[in-house]
Amino acid sequence: MGTKFLKIIFLFLLGISIILLKPFTVLGARVTDVRIWTAPDHTRIVLDLSEPIQYESSSQESPPQFHLELKGASLHTPQREMEVKDPFLTKMSLFEVDKDKVKLVLHQKKALNVHVFALKPYQDKPHRLVVDLIDVVQEKKELEERQKQKEFKIKGTKIVMIDPGHGGEDPGAIGQKKTMEKDIVLKVGEKVVHLLNQNKEIQAFLTRKGDYFIPLEERIKIAREYGADLFVSLHTDGSFNPQARGSSVYCLSLSGATDEVAKILADKENMSNILGGAFLRPAAFAKDPNLNQILLDLMQNNSMKESFRFAETFLEDVKTVNPLKYPSYRQANFIVLKAPDIPSVLVEMAFITNREDERLLNRNDFQEKIAKTLTTSIKKYFRP
Ligand SMILES: [Zn+2]
Repeated sequence: MGTKFLKIIFLFLLGISIILLKPFTVLGARVTDVRIWTAPDHTRIVLDLSEPIQYESSSQESPPQFHLELKGASLHTPQREMEVKDPFLTKMSLFEVDKDKVKLVLHQKKALNVHVFALKPYQDKPHRLVVDLIDVVQEKKELEERQKQKEFKIKGTKIVMIDPGHGGEDPGAIGQKKTMEKDIVLKVGEKVVHLLNQNKEIQAFLTRKGDYFIPLEERIKIAREYGADLFVSLHTDGSFNPQARGSSVYCLSLSGATDEVAKILADKENMSNILGGAFLRPAAFAKDPNLNQILLDLMQNNSMKESFRFAETFLEDVKTVNPLKYPSYRQANFIVLKAPDIPSVLVEMAFITNREDERLLNRNDFQEKIAKTLTTSIKKYFRP
């Protein structure tokens, strides 16, 4: 008798709780934020969502517009009708249609290819919906521009690819004063390219020229299109230990990391694709049919040896500017260092999570010092 009574009470309470919960469950997904990132060949719109969502999209030819309808969603950010400073868009509108539908309208300056994809929550990022508006004409122009460098390269000129890590949705490590890795590495990268280009025999380029994200594989592809002779990926370290500081240099390892810390760092840097939102256009994955595996292995071995040589040169030089975290370079499986034919090195300039290092990283004179040191090492590397 007792258990039957309890069962009835249980079912009664369950019924009440279902009734009480119902108004909350029908609320559906909430759109909590919207961001826009501009790259030379595309513009990315990112919507933050409280849960995954169903959407319908359509494009309009004239005037060119892109429409995205989110069903079962409400807007938890001010309704927006934003004029945007962007090479491809004039305006972006985000508003509620009825109680359970949100609409995004993108007013384009011209016809663009659109790709919409969802990103799952990761770390502090919620569910995200990404809209990439791609200008295929500009994309092709950029590619041709890069290949031109390769074709018309004067004999003896060395091409250096400077890769400022992270960007756009992926801020990288963040300091106590909210300094973002993506901003510092871009500033230093610009300085390095400027300094390198004062040498007749060197031509330097950036993989990323603004605050937008480039997938790791795409960075390699860009370097190969330029015909780069050296690839340097710029980063600032982050740690839960606020005391950790110093500069370090990393090379690729094909057979596991040299130590646990290097492995953790590589895993963290490789996560960039998830945070930044990598939608790989097929070309980034296409294998060169003219290369066979044996040749690839030979090239990779040679590139790695050359990266070690550059890493040693740079460590020697940088220790006069900033204390070293380790006396020698470390190795791990960094995706961005995997170009088989380009010596590639990843530099962690200092710890953005250390108060003193963060202060230095924000200083123009320190950025200048790191840039000068890199330039000196790169010149030495090409003239052994
Ligand atoms: Zn990084």
